[in-house]
Amino acid sequence: MSRGDGHVGDEAPATPHTPALMSPSARSVADVVFDAPVEQPFSYRVPDDMTVGAGQRVAAPLGGAERVGLVVGVREESVVSARLRPITRLVDAAPLLGPSGLEFARFLAGQSLTSFGSTALALLPPPGPGATSAVASAVSEAVTPESPLVLSGSGRERRLLDRLAGPRVALVITSDVESAGRWAQRLEKLARVARLDSGADDAERAAGWHALATGRARLAVGTRSALLTPLPAGATVALIDEHEAAHKPPGPPRLHSRDVILERGAREALSVVFTSATPSVEMWWRCESEAATLASVTPARWPAVTIADPRGITRREALTPPVSRAMREALAAGRRVFLEVSRVSSGLGCDECGAIFRCDRCGVAFGWSAVRRTLTCWLCGAGRPPMDTCPQCGGRRLTPFGWGVERVEQSVRRRFPSARIARYDPEARRGRRGEDQRAAAAGAEVVIGTRGALKLFGPGALGLAAFISPDQLLGLPDFRAAEHTFALLWAAAERVHPEGELIVQSRNPSHYALEAVAQQDLATFYRAELKFRAELGYPPFRRLAVIVVRPRGDGLVERVTAALAGARQLVAYPPIAIPGRRGSRIVVKGGPDLPQVLAAALGDLLSVRRQRPGIMEVEVDPVEWPF
Ligand SMILES: [Zn+2]
Ligand SMILES: [Zn+2]
Repeated sequence: MSRGDGHVGDEAPATPHTPALMSPSARSVADVVFDAPVEQPFSYRVPDDMTVGAGQRVAAPLGGAERVGLVVGVREESVVSARLRPITRLVDAAPLLGPSGLEFARFLAGQSLTSFGSTALALLPPPGPGATSAVASAVSEAVTPESPLVLSGSGRERRLLDRLAGPRVALVITSDVESAGRWAQRLEKLARVARLDSGADDAERAAGWHALATGRARLAVGTRSALLTPLPAGATVALIDEHEAAHKPPGPPRLHSRDVILERGAREALSVVFTSATPSVEMWWRCESEAATLASVTPARWPAVTIADPRGITRREALTPPVSRAMREALAAGRRVFLEVSRVSSGLGCDECGAIFRCDRCGVAFGWSAVRRTLTCWLCGAGRPPMDTCPQCGGRRLTPFGWGVERVEQSVRRRFPSARIARYDPEARRGRRGEDQRAAAAGAEVVIGTRGALKLFGPGALGLAAFISPDQLLGLPDFRAAEHTFALLWAAAERVHPEGELIVQSRNPSHYALEAVAQQDLATFYRAELKFRAELGYPPFRRLAVIVVRPRGDGLVERVTAALAGARQLVAYPPIAIPGRRGSRIVVKGGPDLPQVLAAALGDLLSVRRQRPGIMEVEVDPVEWPF
């Protein structure tokens, strides 16, 4: 679907509805929203031989082309302007969303400051046959909402399967098609499964949407596009790996699937179940506040965890002696080895004490620009030249930290010339080359890769997982850096055989994220992380939004800044030029009502998004940095 159509203003906007008496000559007029950054619907004449309802997709002319839109209302008018153009054709045979579904999509749009049309259309299945009856999502007053449940610890997926064994209707949401396929296979053993993700063809997906609503299927699996699938009250909605940033990919709907499900669960009395080895900090906080329930169990057998201090060793050599030793042992035992190498390197640290230089006010690591020789805080914009000596230990060896994949590979080949070695960095290699790399990695004894490569290995599959320089991840200029590093290390530990080893080469061996993994204790991490978030005002205690403005020489950045300055409930940081890209970024902090306050503050400025794709983007509750 295209976004940001530049010519949508050509059409007739919907006029406020004045109830007209039904006369024999009354004509139907449909109000339609599109995937475009425009709030108000456009009106079309409904041809006499056509019946449409709210919640149904239709095709209609817009900006000189036929576009698919969603009908949000139908009214009878006694006088219809001849200039009003007709709907071209029906896309769905019947409405996909009932009144409550439409209302919910409108709410979600308001939460993400994305247009109603873009939000709703991104949450619907592909058009296809199968729609035979109108769908009304049933809300039963009789069902008491249950507290959302978070399944953590070992066997969490097994425990979810047990809950799905019956007899409730259940929808399982995964972050990608591959994982949806895996879940469909598992669930097939319980009952017939409707596939709602793009792993199934369009006709099957469309049929699945209705099969759940009408009770012809009890179980369904899908990705984000299945989040609005109509469900009976009391049904279960499960989200796999709740903490994953992949549950909020770029583009509309600009919401984390977790937040959509929590809201929907409360509105429709659904039973909400999440699985996660390392719940998001937001979700952990909900459990602590008794707004959700954490079901943890006896932990799995954990591998030995070693924190290897690389100071003084890895300036010229990527592998510390413990890693070399553990590699030899794992290979001799016929077990596989994964070496994690981070792709990013933007911070500056002290070689002697391991300190990562951070902004005093914001607590996030400074970004380091070697070209301009400056340290910059991505949040408040504070910039400074690099220090001559380390403020912590007085050391003089301050270097950008990190190792590239190539250098690590050379080092491994030198030491293990006969091992089968492969490189895999799925974040950088996509398409055909990515597939080739993946195939080579699948058969290798030693895989050197970025964090995404961890997905190659099942539970207990590794003899050794070693993180070459996780300080690069801890030092990302992101307040979620510790959370993401912790989740990654924990996920790696789960993939190591209980007799194997997890080694973390870090100049920050006492960091709480590392300690929590070494002790196999979730609470150690969240206790420290929640304290940091509370002190500096980050989620879950405050909400954030990021506004990206592309320059056009029209003072838009200044107008946005001025508008934000007028909103007393918001903390707006000054605009910062985005390194390597044209444009500026403004970070805004607020309370639980951040979307509403921000929308009110920006007012008409939000509508500049109609003029050109990407001229201004607003991301509420961002999960991945930098943007
Ligand atoms: Zn130092
Ligand atoms: Zn700062």
